[in-house]
Amino acid sequence: MITVENLTKSFQGIPVLNGVSLDVQSGSVLGVVGPSGAGKSTLARCVALLERPDSGAIRVDGTDLTALGGTALRNARRQIGVVPQGDSLLRQRTAAGNIALPLESAGVPGPQRRSRVGELLDLVGLTDKAGSYPDQLSGGQRQRIAVARALAAGPSVLLADEPTSALDPETTGSVLTVLDRARAELGVTVLVVTHDMAVVRKICDDVAVLEEGRVVENGKLLDLIGDSNSRTASALLPAVD
Ligand code: ATP
Ligand code: MG
Repeated sequence: MITVENLTKSFQGIPVLNGVSLDVQSGSVLGVVGPSGAGKSTLARCVALLERPDSGAIRVDGTDLTALGGTALRNARRQIGVVPQGDSLLRQRTAAGNIALPLESAGVPGPQRRSRVGELLDLVGLTDKAGSYPDQLSGGQRQRIAVARALAAGPSVLLADEPTSALDPETTGSVLTVLDRARAELGVTVLVVTHDMAVVRKICDDVAVLEEGRVVENGKLLDLIGDSNSRTASALLPAVD
């Protein structure tokens, strides 16, 4: 379980996160939505320990990650898989080579690495693309490889920042299937940043709406849909005159 408590972060004196608190239950999918510039990526990067918050706590299974340093911090990072916003694969490496990267960093020996990469290619349904370079893959295939890479080291948490942006609805579906498999088959806790309400509807258990660095709405998707005053409901359901 991930617990974010009162997280704050400023850049050059300008506040971007203004006391963000939220929970992600183990093995569930939380969707973080909100307008451009709301602080969604900054929140995800803080939870991924790629950015240091100014204050607040990020607990994964009870341990406050913001208090860690050195080896403990490196180990904690390995528990968190990240699919960054935008194209993030290395162009000069094949699909298999990209997935192998975190395993190489962790010092996993060659034969074990190859078998793990094989499992991950199978998980994301791209076994036949092992030797393809990113330029030879479609946008959706590239994102599925990015998810496989994020899962390579066996994290308990997966953070995906706009994993389906710029994808058509059909391709989006294939990426969502992979995120859902990570949760259902690997028990990974997923935080997905998205502006696409179809993503929320299809795979999220809970939703947090971020505006100007604050959580303005947070709850179970089913409860929010049932509350006609909620922002989530108005974004998901067509307006009725
Ligand atoms: P989008 O939907 O467009 O991806 P977002 O909600 O992910 O937006 P963030 O990327 O978290 O928004 O950015 C929030 C604010 O913080 C923006 O005003 C942005 O310019 C600022 N910001 C983010 N990262 C930095 C940085 N490294 N240095 C300075 N300002 C930053
Ligand atoms: Mg962003």
